[in-house]
Amino acid sequence: GENGNMELKYVHTTCPYCGTGCGFNIVVKDGRAVGIEPWHRAPVNAGKLCQKGRYAYEFIHSKDRLVKPLVRENGQLVETSWEEALALIAGRFMTFLPEEIVCLSSARTSNEENYLMQKFARVVLKTSNVDHCARLCHSSTVAGLAAVFGSGAMTNSILDIEESKCIFIIGSNTLEQHPLIGRRVMLAKKKGAKIVCADPRCTPTAKQADLHLSMYSGTDVALLNGLMHHIIENGWEDSAFISKRTKNYEEMKSVVMQEIYSLPNVSKITGVPEDDLKTAAEWIAQSKPSALIYSMGITQHTVGVDNVRSTANLMLLTGNLGVPGGGVNPLRGQNNVQGACDMGCLPDVYPGYQKVADPKNHRKMESIWGVSGLPKAPGLTVTELMEQLAEGTSTVKCMYVMGENFMLSDPDLNKVRKAMKQLDFLVVQDIFLSETANLADVVLPAACYAEKNGTQTNTERRVQRIRKAVDPPGDAKADWRIICELAGCMGYGPQFSYMNEAEIFEEISKVTPQYGGMSYERLEKPDSLQWPCPDKTHPGTPILHTEKFSTSDGLAEFSGIEWKPPAEVPDVEYPFILTTGRNIWHWHTGTMTRRSKTLASEVRTGWVELNPKDAKKLGIRNREKVRVLSRRGKIEIPSMVTEDIKPGVVFIPFHFKECAANLLTNGALDPVAKIPEYKACAVKIEKIEPQ
Ligand code: SF4
Repeated sequence: GENGNMELKYVHTTCPYCGTGCGFNIVVKDGRAVGIEPWHRAPVNAGKLCQKGRYAYEFIHSKDRLVKPLVRENGQLVETSWEEALALIAGRFMTFLPEEIVCLSSARTSNEENYLMQKFARVVLKTSNVDHCARLCHSSTVAGLAAVFGSGAMTNSILDIEESKCIFIIGSNTLEQHPLIGRRVMLAKKKGAKIVCADPRCTPTAKQADLHLSMYSGTDVALLNGLMHHIIENGWEDSAFISKRTKNYEEMKSVVMQEIYSLPNVSKITGVPEDDLKTAAEWIAQSKPSALIYSMGITQHTVGVDNVRSTANLMLLTGNLGVPGGGVNPLRGQNNVQGACDMGCLPDVYPGYQKVADPKNHRKMESIWGVSGLPKAPGLTVTELMEQLAEGTSTVKCMYVMGENFMLSDPDLNKVRKAMKQLDFLVVQDIFLSETANLADVVLPAACYAEKNGTQTNTERRVQRIRKAVDPPGDAKADWRIICELAGCMGYGPQFSYMNEAEIFEEISKVTPQYGGMSYERLEKPDSLQWPCPDKTHPGTPILHTEKFSTSDGLAEFSGIEWKPPAEVPDVEYPFILTTGRNIWHWHTGTMTRRSKTLASEVRTGWVELNPKDAKKLGIRNREKVRVLSRRGKIEIPSMVTEDIKPGVVFIPFHFKECAANLLTNGALDPVAKIPEYKACAVKIEKIEPQ
């Protein structure tokens, strides 16, 4: 309008932080984002927000934003034009063979951008080497749940958590890490639901629970088998459900009924009192419906897939699938980690989890994309790649990274640094000069969530719009535009000529069966749509597996799973178990939250939590700077002496580069999902003596 410049504009969009997928309004004044206001019709959060969402405008206009492409000249990153940067990249990319190049996509960007990144890898570079950080958080969920249910996603909805009569939270600090899902848990509790929380720390979530199972990190399978042992012993299993909807029950039963999983033994392994195990088993089995919620405390182990399958066993045993208020509910971490997986940014599947190795899918994709010669074999996972690079055995020489910061987020950072030295050419596309971008040969400035349109998919499979509120700073551009321009420079203009984000989404719905009935028009209504939504009249699917499971015979499959200890256990030299995680004020590697004034001023740096008994033995006072060492690295970090952590266990949040927890963590991988063991490794703690 006439005085448009001074008017406030409210733009509905979706939070860029966690997988809860809260909606809010960005307030725009004079072309700048000046605040966040509630959007009451947002389905997940109904206008409420956590602190990260509330201040999600503060980093947008940060003076640190990347505003020009950068190229390395004589060791220094110097500004250049888009033309020169893209020509340089296109020229270099063309010199590498498909097996020499890897693309890393990003759970921080939109579905459209993830879709284009895997298309770029497969169509332009002819490589299946495309992966993203889901490898590090929920690859064990995708592998584990798909094996049991035929689908690797959260089975139920955030809203129906409120209908639960008992909520079993294991390996998730829901109230701090998915606060607006935590709110649903608290609403269920208010209505009388029992809350059970299994965690080595007495987190804010454990404090709100009716029962806290204070377990040793890395004993999840033993704990779950013990609960099932007790349930079967008491005849509390749901026989009707088991016979009608599942198979392989006897095999599972023969494993969990072994003497080692009787409660006295499980109590010894897990450190949880026998009576607490009894109460938990009774509540979970006897309250209907019961829901199970888990997160990275389950997935980030060398036995991640085993852990996931055990959670499914428990809920199948008690007949809690396909019903409101029940389900196995993995909480996805990043805003769009579900979408990045759905879009096929994984080395073995096209969009919609269609296997690369299946010739039928191969032909389908070649015809839709209008190309031939797509790679036929699955590619490398990012964790395997890092290991091979560090060992000097990898064929890979070039990496194209969109919005990831593995120089702080990957395990065993000294190894990652060594791996990066093996590369001949590294391109990083990001909104800030992250630790990873700082190593790149070319850095491309990207637009942030508030500067582009698109969709992202939250943890309950809800595909929601993000909407442009302001222009990107300087020469920065949306990731999807950058990918299209680069494809154009490499001779694939026709396959990457989109006018806008809606056109990309149209192609996504054609390629991806679960998104088949979706369009921007249908996603306009606040409730949006939850996949699967196979056709234009389908209303979407809030609860999976109501009639049958997505497996070939429609049955869910039990499996007998034995407990195995973590890859590295405490010993005389390294006597503590280290577990890592997040904090409510900060997000992952802190690139955004540490540049947000309000959030940064709440928590300025990291800390190591240890129990007063351990602190006393070591002569360490609260807030004293100590040294923490593992076989892989060491850091100096302030202590936090607290009863909230079990003796023998220590905790460090991983956001802070000045005391990076991942210098200590173990890169050992789950054999199936290739997820690393962030949640358990052995460390020692030393007092720093004055010089
Ligand atoms: Fe954003 Fe997650 Fe907080 Fe919601 S709960 S406001 S999605 S960070």
